[in-house]
Amino acid sequence: MCDVKACSSAKLPAYARAVAYPDNENKLICLISLLNVYDIPHRLIGGMSNVLIKNGIYNGVLIKTDKIATNYLAENRITLGCGIRTSNVIHRMSAIGLGGMEGLAGIPGTVGGMLKQNAGAYGYEISDRFTEAKCYLTDKGHTVNLSKDEMDFSYRHSILSDSSIVLLTATFELLHGCSDDIISQIRYFRSCRAESQPIKYPSLGSVFKRHNGIGAGYYIDRAGLKGFSIGGAQISEKHAGFIINRGGATADDYIRLADYAKRRVYSEFGIELEEEIEVI
Ligand SMILES: Cc1cc2nc3c(=O)[nH]c(=O)nc-3n(C[C@H](O)[C@H](O)[C@H](O)COP(=O)(O)OP(=O)(O)OC[C@H]3O[C@@H](n4cnc5c(N)ncnc54)[C@H](O)[C@@H]3O)c2cc1C
Repeated sequence: MCDVKACSSAKLPAYARAVAYPDNENKLICLISLLNVYDIPHRLIGGMSNVLIKNGIYNGVLIKTDKIATNYLAENRITLGCGIRTSNVIHRMSAIGLGGMEGLAGIPGTVGGMLKQNAGAYGYEISDRFTEAKCYLTDKGHTVNLSKDEMDFSYRHSILSDSSIVLLTATFELLHGCSDDIISQIRYFRSCRAESQPIKYPSLGSVFKRHNGIGAGYYIDRAGLKGFSIGGAQISEKHAGFIINRGGATADDYIRLADYAKRRVYSEFGIELEEEIEVI
């Protein structure tokens, strides 16, 4: 078994049968095809900032995409490999006066993970500047280019939610602007994040999706659960939508606490929260 705790942004103890680090698209495609032929369970992992491994054991192969980090810039269009950290790109592009994704700075996800979720913050979504993607259809065994419409983006959703589609690269059309202005916008959004989120503790970000446009943290707070813990997992005192690892938390602590919060919100307000995090 391979120890993958260090890969998880929540730093929960976790193991997988094996971890693979393909370093280009072709190797990724070959690996997935091979695992499919032998019917070996597998899962793509980017920053692992939205995924939790049930019972701390994944009985298959985790495919880390970190090394698929190509980037190609032509004027204001940038094509990125699926494993690149989006936030790093936003910072690098700001230095040359290209922006349009400032509110997403500080989200610890990769291009692949963020497009799957259509990650968003402060009125920005990763789909905003997206133009097209190259994807591998694992059930058909070939690649395809998908337009923005074909990606079927909506709140925390895209066509990649169908796990037979793997994102290889994505192209974004950035906006020209004044570098200093873009950098100061990024600083502003990052300071909002630091002020409102428990970023000093390991976590998976917001555990639940918004309900009718209202953050789940509002209801969890109103249910009196700020600071409530199970084992090493705690509902953040700073932002009730986050469950933090105070030290020594397990996946089981995390899941039990999320379930408890969900039940309490249902019994107090009749609202069924829907998980944003994914349990695999
Ligand atoms: C401190 C903190 C703050 C956060 N703030 C925000 C926020 O403001 N807004 C927000 O939306 N989210 C936020 N998140 C959640 C998280 O960062 C996002 O959901 C992000 O999109 C996950 O990206 P990832 O690379 O970590 O994906 P992972 O967690 O590794 O994977 C997520 C899903 O994507 C799939 N996947 C990964 N790569 C590919 C690929 N190439 N092709 C197909 N599927 C793929 C995985 O199989 C999995 O199903 C936050 C998390 C943390 C820890």
